[in-house]
Amino acid sequence: MSNQSFGPMSRRSFLATSAAGATLTMLHPFSAHASEGQAHLRIMETTDLHVHVFPYDYYSDRPVDTVGLARTAAHIGDIRAEATNSVLLDNGDFLQGNPMGDYIAYERGMREGDTHPIIAAMNTLGFDASTLGNHEFNYGLDFLMKSLAGAGFPIISANVVKEAGGTPTGDTTLVRPYVILDRTVTDGAGAEHPIRIGIIGFVPPQIMQWDARHLVGNVTARDIVETARAWVPQIKEEGADIIIALSHSGIGAADHTEGMENASIPLGTVDGLDAVLTGHSHLVFPGPAYAETPGVDNDNATIHGKPAVMAGFWGSHLGLIDLMLERDGNAWRVLTHSVETRPISRRNEDRSITALVESDPEVLASVQTDHDETLAYIRRAVGKTAAPLHSYFALVADDPSVQIVSQAQKWYVAQMLEGTEYAGLPILSAAAPFKAGGRGGPEYFTDVPVGDVAIKNVADLYLYPNTVRAVKVTGAEVRDWLERSAGMFNQIEPGKADQVLLNPDFPSYNFDVIDGVTYQIDLSQPSKFTSKGEALNPDANRIVNLMYDGQPVTDDMEFVIATNNYRASGGGSFPGAKGDTIILEAPDTNRDVIVRYIVEQGTIDPKADANWSFAPLPGTSVLFDTGPAATAYADSVPGVTIEPAGDGPDGFARFRIGL
Ligand code: MN
Ligand code: MG
Repeated sequence: MSNQSFGPMSRRSFLATSAAGATLTMLHPFSAHASEGQAHLRIMETTDLHVHVFPYDYYSDRPVDTVGLARTAAHIGDIRAEATNSVLLDNGDFLQGNPMGDYIAYERGMREGDTHPIIAAMNTLGFDASTLGNHEFNYGLDFLMKSLAGAGFPIISANVVKEAGGTPTGDTTLVRPYVILDRTVTDGAGAEHPIRIGIIGFVPPQIMQWDARHLVGNVTARDIVETARAWVPQIKEEGADIIIALSHSGIGAADHTEGMENASIPLGTVDGLDAVLTGHSHLVFPGPAYAETPGVDNDNATIHGKPAVMAGFWGSHLGLIDLMLERDGNAWRVLTHSVETRPISRRNEDRSITALVESDPEVLASVQTDHDETLAYIRRAVGKTAAPLHSYFALVADDPSVQIVSQAQKWYVAQMLEGTEYAGLPILSAAAPFKAGGRGGPEYFTDVPVGDVAIKNVADLYLYPNTVRAVKVTGAEVRDWLERSAGMFNQIEPGKADQVLLNPDFPSYNFDVIDGVTYQIDLSQPSKFTSKGEALNPDANRIVNLMYDGQPVTDDMEFVIATNNYRASGGGSFPGAKGDTIILEAPDTNRDVIVRYIVEQGTIDPKADANWSFAPLPGTSVLFDTGPAATAYADSVPGVTIEPAGDGPDGFARFRIGL
């Protein structure tokens, strides 16, 4: 079996990782150390699977080695082979997050008797329990409940409430708040003993904002820590020997604040919990990111002394907490613990990926039909575009491939801010061309003709798995944001012909166009910032005639800008986007939002609105290179006159703009 042949390899890699402090090691099967009256229990975690079963990227339509429960399954098989006593738990966010999830929700639906593919795969692996993540609510409660109905294991969540009582234990919850698993463990002397394992689950209460349209009026969400404090004593009372928290919540601030999203550290202070399985942040714990986190002991993999783990995302890792239990009268207590995360792939120094395990054929077989249907889905139209979506002129004019991203982001952020204190502010949207030639070569452009739009095309429009953010900025910051972008261009001497327009050191993904304002770029002025975003000519201004709603933008005006997590948290070092202006950390990827936008609109019309252009410089012309396929579109670009100017280097075509 593949598990056997790949097992030693994954172990080596796991030891190598541990040298860097990423994981703790366990050199011998833990059960070898158990003596009479002691038993070894292995707790396995998957988290944030997001419908990834096959090792396949449905956006780019090709196999990948970095994702897939079918791969994680190989580790599960190894661990079960090593030890008699184990439980397999999932920490939530299984139902949404890739085109297979969208296919089931938007196209096929959940019919009577259907089993959702991720549930089918989890059933195949014999999961013992799962909790709800925030993304379980993305397609509505009816879809959720139909999907859960097919699970051959309990799905729990203690803080999603249908009817609130005076305290959490008086609530009627959406699904059962906890479960007690009756299991048998074998001790070091070979004797069998009963053990009762309590499992309770939590989700960020922010679901009420993120999925307000599905949830408000139907459920409410309680604070994670408050809910845990109320329920854990009851689970103990009912006879649980040990209690495990499935915390679909990250390792965030040390101190508890009411309703906090990433509550796993304060959750660790709750008496009666024996282990905390975390997730939601798509990170790995233990790991270098947590070396200095208060309340966390990264070396011992504990949160407030309780063993804890976070197993990455999309099946990238299997989390493992080993507990050595000791019989204590009629109960069990935790004597010692050990924690690991086992990766399914390794990134090499040349950035190539090596698979560390092979897919489990049974898991693949359980979703083969859904996989095949998903492939057909991503390759056929999900909507239509009334304008061609290409990026050939994205660096020299307002462009449809950037416009569609801006429109979708703005549409989404407007929904998210409804009913919040920011609801009245004007919403702008920032987006940059990702595929715009350059080092990617003359074919490296987005090019979707008028007509059908497929899911595959969306990956082309938005290359990165970023998530949506909104920032609140001043008029002065909007202006400087655009000044930073305008570093894309060389300084141009008025009255001279055929000057080189684009600065080759400036990556296109930092050329943010802001939609919702109008402006011109005066190329005769020097750039205010270097291509890395450092101050260069603090008094220079390339951005002129900056207007909102036909009125000049003044420094003290206030705006919301829809963007992504990279930009909002300081990526590219943009004024107004250094991490301290974020007002919305949305859970959805920009890509998912674009798909949702196209599916809901049916036909999109991302015609560029020419909201920005170069300021006129009479008698001046510039040259730039783009893909040869651009020729067909050159005379239909709004707001600019473009003419062919021969061949560029390396297969590029050259064009001239008269300023
Ligand atoms: Mn997630
Ligand atoms: Mg525009």
